[in-house]
Amino acid sequence: MRLSNLLTRDNFRFKEEQAEAVNFELTEEQRMVQASVREFVAGEIAPRAHEYDEQARFPREQLKGLAELGLLGMIIPEEWGGAGFDTVAYAVALEEIARADASVCVIVGVTNSVVCYPILSFGTEEQKKKYLVPLARGEILGAFCLSEPQAGSDATNLKTRAVRDGDSYVINGTKSWVSSGGEANTYIVMAVTSREDNKNKVTAFIVEGTTPGLTVSSIEHKMGQRASQMFACPLQMFWAAKATVCAWPSTVSTTGALA
Ligand SMILES: Cc1cc2nc3c(=O)[nH]c(=O)nc-3n(C[C@H](O)[C@H](O)[C@H](O)COP(=O)(O)OP(=O)(O)OC[C@H]3O[C@@H](n4cnc5c(N)ncnc54)[C@H](O)[C@@H]3O)c2cc1C
Repeated sequence: MRLSNLLTRDNFRFKEEQAEAVNFELTEEQRMVQASVREFVAGEIAPRAHEYDEQARFPREQLKGLAELGLLGMIIPEEWGGAGFDTVAYAVALEEIARADASVCVIVGVTNSVVCYPILSFGTEEQKKKYLVPLARGEILGAFCLSEPQAGSDATNLKTRAVRDGDSYVINGTKSWVSSGGEANTYIVMAVTSREDNKNKVTAFIVEGTTPGLTVSSIEHKMGQRASQMFACPLQMFWAAKATVCAWPSTVSTTGALA
């Protein structure tokens, strides 16, 4: 059956009342974001995308321009160094970047969504000053370490453990598929801190890239997005004086979402 036939069936037909409930038009500000990101991407990102991909080279030279445009802290309020845009403007910007280079899109998406945003939501005032402001300004880059060789969709199955040792934590484990791994300065690392009622309690730690014991090993080879390097990251006993707790322990539900 042709797709166009499917779309005319009642179930797929766009209902007038839905159109009234949801406004799909971009605001003037969102259109301006779209236009300026489109122009930047056409001038700076697209012409070099093929080269970076072919060489599987991390596009570090692109970060300055992305930061100047505020793209590395898009959804972070201006008081914390970000551009203070809404999530629709952010999605529009990601779309524009992805049209030219999916690797750059992953790099931008990771540092915004799963590094800046958790620190904004759960970090202390001190952590926001120390990490969020330079991250959102694009002076440093973030990476996110949840997945492990045996724990992808099944995030309940984390083996990385964090054990309290006086004022600090010792974290042990191996993370996989860490986008921007080895290139990032700040890592959000999810580790199991205890087990209660047969469920893992998971805590998010902020770990600096220079922390002893954080070693980056092999690069993951992918079919596409070859410039957004993904590394396996063995975390060997790093003393976590620098690995400050970002979010309090959460119970991981069976679907893998943090509860
Ligand atoms: C480009 C890219 C960037 C990434 N960057 C990061 C990163 O920065 N940090 C990070 O931590 N991780 C990262 N990941 C890892 C990503 O989060 C995992 O790949 C993802 O969670 C899926 O895990 P998996 O690959 O082990 O697949 P699996 O969990 O093995 O899933 C394989 C398939 O089985 C299906 N499946 C799984 N469980 C069930 C179930 N219970 N019932 C039915 N079907 C099921 C899935 O839908 C999928 O189709 C990245 C992945 C990619 C591709």
